[in-house]
Amino acid sequence: MTEHNEHSCNCGSYQENSCDCGGSHGESCGSSGCNCKNEEEKKAPDFNNIKHVVAVMSGKGGVGKSSFASLLAIALNKKGYKVGILDADITGPSIPKLFGVKGLPDQNEKGVLPKKSKTGIGLMSINFLLPQEDEPVIWRGPIISGVIKQFWEEVIWDDLDYLIVDLPPGTGDAPLTVLQSLNLDGVLIVTSPQDLANMVVRKAIKMAQKMDIPVLGIVENMSYLPCPDCGKRINLFGESNVEKTCAELNVDLVGKFPLDPELASLSDKGAIEDYQGNNLTLLAENLDFLNK
Ligand code: ADP
Repeated sequence: MTEHNEHSCNCGSYQENSCDCGGSHGESCGSSGCNCKNEEEKKAPDFNNIKHVVAVMSGKGGVGKSSFASLLAIALNKKGYKVGILDADITGPSIPKLFGVKGLPDQNEKGVLPKKSKTGIGLMSINFLLPQEDEPVIWRGPIISGVIKQFWEEVIWDDLDYLIVDLPPGTGDAPLTVLQSLNLDGVLIVTSPQDLANMVVRKAIKMAQKMDIPVLGIVENMSYLPCPDCGKRINLFGESNVEKTCAELNVDLVGKFPLDPELASLSDKGAIEDYQGNNLTLLAENLDFLNK
């Protein structure tokens, strides 16, 4: 064991005067090959202890990906887990609007602090950093990818049980960045019953599988509309073929989630955390996919 003065070490054991990473030690302690850092050198990642990272992905937009990223965070938060949402949908960020949160995030010399939602969920989105929320982001892929990496590397997420990443739709640059550079436990796929959605969602699933990222499950959103009078399920978008897709691609179905005007209305008001309807109940009852 080598002597350090007031150093902490990335080997996981903080020791005031010594480091037990077992190998040779870095410049901050006089030898090479060690990650020991003194207090001034520590940046956001040194403070972050994130146990699970789950990305929410869809083949195309408008299927409820951001809604389900939010509902997943809300369901986990209600169960007592510490949760954050990284809004990686840089060109179409929805998370601030859904939670009714705006304004610049605080920051210090170590990094940026996530904004907090009403119920204590940590949020980071490009929209917090824009002068106006309707200001478009007109950036090319590499810049967008750089911002996503900054949200991972320069945000002080602190201790989290789950970081939920809301991906942009499709299989472009930004999802690729997340799949390649964030330490993901897996992806949750959101789709809707339309044939087109199913064709494009297969691309998203295959992308994750090709990159060896576990597909934790598929949510079929907007699956049906329960008739307000008799409760009968109306298949607004036609018959679902999600079971077939799941079987063919060897992926589990998390559930078929109904259209619920209350979810849309609360989301529009920035009050998604007030939602207590079927979509949340059903998701909260089926969180086993996270343990895959
Ligand atoms: P995406 O992230 O895939 O683009 P969103 O989560 O932004 O999709 O949802 C698109 C729209 O559909 C939003 O207005 C949202 O409130 C609404 N929505 C999503 N899921 C449902 C649902 N199950 N019932 C009613 N409205 C929904």
